[in-house]
Amino acid sequence: MTGDKTHQYHRHLPEDPEYSAEKLQELLTEKGLVDEETLDEIVNIYEHKIGPQNGSRVVAKSWVDKDFKKLLFENTSEAISTLGYGGRQGEHIVAVENSPEIHNMVVCTLCSCYPWPLLGIPPNWYKSDSYRKRAVKEPRTVLHEFGVELLNGQKVRVWDSTAEIRYLVVPMQPEKSLGLKENDLIPWVTRNSMIGTGLPTRPL
Ligand code: FE
Repeated sequence: MTGDKTHQYHRHLPEDPEYSAEKLQELLTEKGLVDEETLDEIVNIYEHKIGPQNGSRVVAKSWVDKDFKKLLFENTSEAISTLGYGGRQGEHIVAVENSPEIHNMVVCTLCSCYPWPLLGIPPNWYKSDSYRKRAVKEPRTVLHEFGVELLNGQKVRVWDSTAEIRYLVVPMQPEKSLGLKENDLIPWVTRNSMIGTGLPTRPL
C-alpha cells in the first residue's frame, strides 16, 4: 500500500483534521450554509445513536441466521441494509470472518477510515500513529497487548481500510454462548472484537 494512488483514497482527511474542520465549520456558518445546531446534531448522532451496538447486532444475527450470514459475506452492504444500516462513511463495507485458521484485524495505516454506520466513531487508539504503524509491522505483539490470545497455528491477516473499503471483523461465536438467542448474543459482541483487537466476551 504505497504511492499516490493509495493516498488519494484517504484524501478525505486533511493534514490537521481538527483545525481544518473548525475552519470549515466557521466558514460555512459565516456564509449561512449550515447552522451550528445541524452540525451538533450530526455529531450527536454519530456519538450516541450510531455506535458499536449496530455492528454487534449484525454479528449476533450472523451467528444464528444462516441466510443472513451467507448474504453478509457475499454482499455486506446489502446484508446490513436489511437491518437499516448504511450511508455515510460506510458505502462499501466488507465483512471478514475469523476462523480457527485466521484471525482478522483492521487498521487504517494512513488515517482513520472506519465503518461508521456499524461501529460509530473510532476510538482514539485506532487513530494513533502507534497503532497504525504497529498493527502492520507487529500485529501479534499488538494483539497480545490487547489481550487477544491466538489459537495454536492461527494466522493473522491485517486489513488496511481506505475511504473506499472499510472492514468489519466477524468474530467466532464463543462456545459458551451457543444456543442463545440473537438479542442475548448482542452484548457479547464487543467493539474491539469487530476491529479484531478483542474477542467476544460474556457480558458483565
Ligand atoms: Fe483512511
